[in-house]
Amino acid sequence: MKAIVDQETCTGCGLCADTCPEVFKMEGDTAVAYADPVPEGAQEDCRQAAEGCPVDAIKVE
Ligand code: SF4
Repeated sequence: MKAIVDQETCTGCGLCADTCPEVFKMEGDTAVAYADPVPEGAQEDCRQAAEGCPVDAIKVE
């Protein structure tokens, strides 16, 4: 499982880094998915972060 943050769309709200800090962190004004692949134990939180993103900037595949 892999998570990708669309840097053009991300508004930097910080929600994904709060919801799933194992995968997302803030870098300047946007979030990045720094864990690749998404660790087994973080997959549910990662999906929640993707669903919770207010601008749908996170793709999970
Ligand atoms: S939740 Fe979405 S908009 Fe907010 S920091 Fe994460 S990727 Fe960016």
